[in-house]
Amino acid sequence: MFSYWEKKHFFHCDLAVVGSGFVGLSTAIHYKKKHPKARVLVLERGVFPNGASTKNAGFACFGSLTEILDDFWQMTQEEVLELVEKRYKGLLQIRKNFGDKALGYKHTHGFELIDEQLLQAMDQMEEVNKLLKKIFNKEVFSKVKKPEKLGFSEKIKVIVENKFEGELDPGMYMDSLWEMAEKLGIRILTGVSVLEIMKDEGRILAESNSGKDSMEFVAEKVAICTNAFTKKLWPESDLVPGRGLILLSKPLDFEIPWKGTFHLDKGYVYFRKVDGRLLLGGARNKDFEGEKSTDFTVNPKIKSHLEKLASDIIFPGKEIQWEMEWTGIMAFGPKKSPLIRQVGKKTVAAVRLGGMGVAIGWEVGRELSGLLRKM
Ligand SMILES: Cc1cc2nc3c(=O)[nH]c(=O)nc-3n(C[C@H](O)[C@H](O)[C@H](O)COP(=O)(O)OP(=O)(O)OC[C@H]3O[C@@H](n4cnc5c(N)ncnc54)[C@H](O)[C@@H]3O)c2cc1C
Repeated sequence: MFSYWEKKHFFHCDLAVVGSGFVGLSTAIHYKKKHPKARVLVLERGVFPNGASTKNAGFACFGSLTEILDDFWQMTQEEVLELVEKRYKGLLQIRKNFGDKALGYKHTHGFELIDEQLLQAMDQMEEVNKLLKKIFNKEVFSKVKKPEKLGFSEKIKVIVENKFEGELDPGMYMDSLWEMAEKLGIRILTGVSVLEIMKDEGRILAESNSGKDSMEFVAEKVAICTNAFTKKLWPESDLVPGRGLILLSKPLDFEIPWKGTFHLDKGYVYFRKVDGRLLLGGARNKDFEGEKSTDFTVNPKIKSHLEKLASDIIFPGKEIQWEMEWTGIMAFGPKKSPLIRQVGKKTVAAVRLGGMGVAIGWEVGRELSGLLRKM
């Protein structure tokens, strides 16, 4: 039950953004910067954003060598280069806007472990470097000189280094977005699940998480930024959810002989050091069908695959004690690029961020804000 005052003041706005992940908050911020007087409201169903933005691995990356080579099978050369450039520039933009300190950003470089099966990728490294020179002006991928010093399994034949990548703390990135949103006067309402959007009228039906309160918001413009959970609000959207699992070890009782962000298995598996622990995640490719889910549960098949990788490949012969595990949900589609478009007279959407939202979320928000301003 709402009061006269609540009804009078809290249910109308100029822009309502649904979803408070990287894309939702970035959209709200870009829009509010251009329209300081606009009343901007963000509606989020979780207490914290409950999708991928605070569940991810914090890789500030744009694609490993084998991932880029894989992309050449599905996209044109121009499309691949465009995507890499978009991701790289996106990373530079968030570093510029928030600062490395606020993001917990460390420029520790990216690495890819190459086993026998992927070894032939090395024949194409120079060619890929040549193509990427247009964007980076320098060589991106190089072979690590003494890979055996890093202590990985002997199955790892080569390690490829990428000097342009780094890592950040997703919680600190979210905190920076919250702080900026707050400074600009953006309202974020949490615990509000949007049930339906009337896209031509800007009407939004929602309920509180307890399910006790039904609400109707009316907005001049609406932005759908619900990524993997978009089908409910925009059933025609071309995307499928993809769950990701992360395991975090207990603090390790030995010195980790490497730093940086590491990829395995064409980028499907990733790991890094976090506060003296091993963070290890991914392996969605071990059960693609099972992972097409918006349910935040843990797939035991994937969990045991990751655990095995830890003691076979990453720290051979060592027993790793795990302390935490969690899942987050991404969204994928036929193309690797996000879906950004107008979906009604008063409604736009930016969804399907794949596994690269850290790099592109901010710029996707800028693009969506541009679309809103043209409406
Ligand atoms: C395990 C994992 C690891 C990853 N690692 C990396 C990485 O290292 N580097 C990288 O670049 N990317 C990584 N990603 C991908 C990255 O996290 C995502 O691309 C990015 O967070 C997507 O941001 P978003 O704002 O589009 O979506 P989300 O963060 O999912 O935000 C959508 C929001 O909408 C809300 N919502 C949904 N439906 C409703 C509704 N009906 N009403 C109200 N609110 C709603 C959700 O609660 C959620 O908060 C990873 C993802 C996962 C899951």
